[in-house]
Amino acid sequence: GNYEAEENRYDTMPYRRCGRSGLLLPAISVGLWHNFGHSDDFTNAREILRTAFDTGVTHFDLANNYGPPYGAAEENFGRIFEKDFRPYRDELIISSKAGWDMWPGPYGNFGSKKYLIASLDQSLQRMGLDYVDIFYHHRPDPDTPLEETMGALHQIVQQGKALYVGISQYPAELTRQAAEILQQMGTKLCIHQPRYSMMDRWVEDGLMDELGRQGTGAIAFSPLEQGILTNKYLKGIPEESRAVKDGRYLQKEKITAELVDKVQRLNAIAKERGQSMAQMAIAWLLKDERITSVLVGVSSSKQMLDNVKTTENLLFSEGELSEIEKIISS
Ligand code: NDP
Repeated sequence: GNYEAEENRYDTMPYRRCGRSGLLLPAISVGLWHNFGHSDDFTNAREILRTAFDTGVTHFDLANNYGPPYGAAEENFGRIFEKDFRPYRDELIISSKAGWDMWPGPYGNFGSKKYLIASLDQSLQRMGLDYVDIFYHHRPDPDTPLEETMGALHQIVQQGKALYVGISQYPAELTRQAAEILQQMGTKLCIHQPRYSMMDRWVEDGLMDELGRQGTGAIAFSPLEQGILTNKYLKGIPEESRAVKDGRYLQKEKITAELVDKVQRLNAIAKERGQSMAQMAIAWLLKDERITSVLVGVSSSKQMLDNVKTTENLLFSEGELSEIEKIISS
């Protein structure tokens, strides 16, 4: 039926400033990488986004090739947007990206101006939007000059097709160069989207400091290690799980007894804090003020609700932090 957003949707979610910019993002954002393809349940997908927005999650993250097939998540989002969210366009931050393989031939991958400009036009068409709020270069391209890729992002802002621009998975030094090139053209590097979780901490080795210096915000992807840092796999590998349903990126073999044992021990701390494992994993990332937002994926609105309730307890004692540290590094 018709959707009317929850009246009290802004009462509990904290909004955090994205670096030194005017943009505020919800502490928790939602991504459409999984569960929004053409083989997924459309009603469930729609329910997830309604629940997200109803609880203050104003940011939906997409990319050109989310599906399957490529483009499907943007198409399904476009349908949901038309049905439910068009009246709320100005309350939403919608992002897309290009940088991974999208269409055949030499112009549908990596970081050329040819690819980025064409891809964003396609994304806007699939989603039924005039502009995205954030457009990202999805990964570094070792062969295209950085000036060209950043030039494309700058042009996209100039043309009004994106309000803000970002990069994803760029290492610290390349991030510094990207920010400086954009700066010279008069465009701010607003946001970086790195992979970051309790079990993947590469950003702590230089990137977070560089983002702090540049005044660039950070949004952490795969914060729950695709489900490993939740209660999902504590009692075996359920049929209804990403590892079984979609082994493209999360292989069952990766979920070892040793890994599950670690999560059991982390989960014991979460329990003492009165939190779910997922909530503790999200809160642990938000303890760094330079992390603007934590970008979760969810396969149900129930998981969405569990994740947004993280904001009820964001504080850690020194004791908890050192216990967690011991477990992570064991
Ligand atoms: P997560 O690490 O948050 O994993 C999401 C999965 O965890 C869900 O599908 C679900 O698994 C499980 N889960 C989530 N919440 C709960 C809960 N409360 N209780 C139990 N299980 C839970 O993130 P993703 O890997 O999905 O990445 C998030 C987003 O980040 C993507 O949608 C995308 O927007 C972005 N991203 C960006 C990339 C980039 O290169 N820039 C790369 C990858 C992701 P299940 O399905 O088994 O129920």
